[in-house]
Amino acid sequence: MSADLTTFLRERVAEDEQIARDAATAFGDTWTVVDDAIRGSLEFTDVVAEPGSPAEYIAHYDAARALREVKAKRALMAMHRPIRAKDILGSGWTDDSLACEQETGPDDIAPTPFPCQTLQALAAVYADHSDYRDEWRS
Ligand SMILES: [Zn+2]
Repeated sequence: MSADLTTFLRERVAEDEQIARDAATAFGDTWTVVDDAIRGSLEFTDVVAEPGSPAEYIAHYDAARALREVKAKRALMAMHRPIRAKDILGSGWTDDSLACEQETGPDDIAPTPFPCQTLQALAAVYADHSDYRDEWRS
């Protein structure tokens, strides 16, 4: 399960990045609502920008933000890596279970299992994907 969740997250984040980069290439990376339209490098003149409108929402989640979120998710994934519990907890821990390297310290009584709740929370963003597994829900 652990490697699968890590792979799943890497693939979803890579998809997010590709979609954001494609959008940034086509429309610029920073979008704002001006008058009744979203303005990037290309104007979205057919979208009405009333408070709470799709245009306002789209501009709020522009490609620049999506790429910052990709960077943040990758940073979290780099911090929450698997490590053998016995490599952290020492010889008193004899099985080959995996622990979260970020959340398990040498003085802990028991390891934080991998994948940890942080990665499960990140994966929950993609709960509507066909490869998402219910056992990943935290
Ligand atoms: Zn963790």
